[in-house]
Amino acid sequence: MMIVMKEEATEEQIQAVVDRVESVGCLAHLSQGEVLTVIGAIGDRDRVAALGLEGAPGVDHLVPILKPYKLASSQFRKGERTVIDVDGRKVGGEHFALIAGPCTVESREQTLEVARVVADQGASMLRGGAYKPRTSPYSFQGLGAEGLRFLLEAKEQTGLPVVTELMDVRDVQDVAEVADVIQIGARNMQNYPLLSEAGRTGLPVLLKRGLSSTLEELLMAAEYVLKEGNESVMLCERGIRTFETAYRFTLDLLAIPALHELTHLPVIVDPSHAAGRRDWVKPMSLAAAAAGADGIIVEVHNEPEEAICDGPQAVPTDLFAEYAEQLRLVTEAAGKELSRV
Ligand code: PEP
Ligand code: MN
Repeated sequence: MMIVMKEEATEEQIQAVVDRVESVGCLAHLSQGEVLTVIGAIGDRDRVAALGLEGAPGVDHLVPILKPYKLASSQFRKGERTVIDVDGRKVGGEHFALIAGPCTVESREQTLEVARVVADQGASMLRGGAYKPRTSPYSFQGLGAEGLRFLLEAKEQTGLPVVTELMDVRDVQDVAEVADVIQIGARNMQNYPLLSEAGRTGLPVLLKRGLSSTLEELLMAAEYVLKEGNESVMLCERGIRTFETAYRFTLDLLAIPALHELTHLPVIVDPSHAAGRRDWVKPMSLAAAAAGADGIIVEVHNEPEEAICDGPQAVPTDLFAEYAEQLRLVTEAAGKELSRV
């Protein structure tokens, strides 16, 4: 249930409603906009209804949220879009973020070199995995804590905020010390304790859509993060499993307008893991920007032939300037501004 307070509602009246919602074991999620204050009462609807809050001091009206995801639903923000600010780089609304970097952190030199190039060419943030979810347990699993140190050094040298994956709740502190955005990978989209833990860090979370997940399941996963009082979730379409085998995954670009209707959260697209081939990465990036995506997360490598992981889909650093420029043009045509500082 959404409790919309009157414009002139006082702090005391707002607090009184919050207290009453909490007194019946529900979560009261306070959202203070420019003009209106809205309290999301999350929990058993009958118990909230039994409080008889209509007509309580300061309350304007009550709106039931019909979707199973509450905090993530468009209704909850009354059409206003969430804009996430990561150290001055904005994502959402009219702001488009270009997140670029290697699939995995392989060495100090590789990380610093790729970071330098993408920073020079106007990327908004640096991506790179220190902990890698690999299909085979015999594949390279990431440099772990050492990889995090290289990412930190890249951040210090370039000023780019770092997006890196958290795979295990036991690593949350180490990752949170370096990450500006915590990535939850496709394979962990429904790892609910991990989502809650990431939410509790207070850091923005980039949540990837599971390989076979519906948009509703993605939004329910986002709800786990939001429920921790963390309002900064960006959703990421990265390709889903279909019967098609001609490419790694089917990039579901319809998810962009569909999610924009269902949720206020920013929607970004990962063209790299769906394409699996670098010559398909640019067309899909431009298509995503044209369809209204709020950002792109793309893999870039200085020596793609030597890459330990996902080399064939990496944009080489020497082609990144042209890639970024074309993306900027389409982004602007779609009415958004590429976010950089
Ligand atoms: C990644 O971004 O490095 C990654 C492993 O992606 P996904 O979880 O979408 O497969
Ligand atoms: Mn990868």
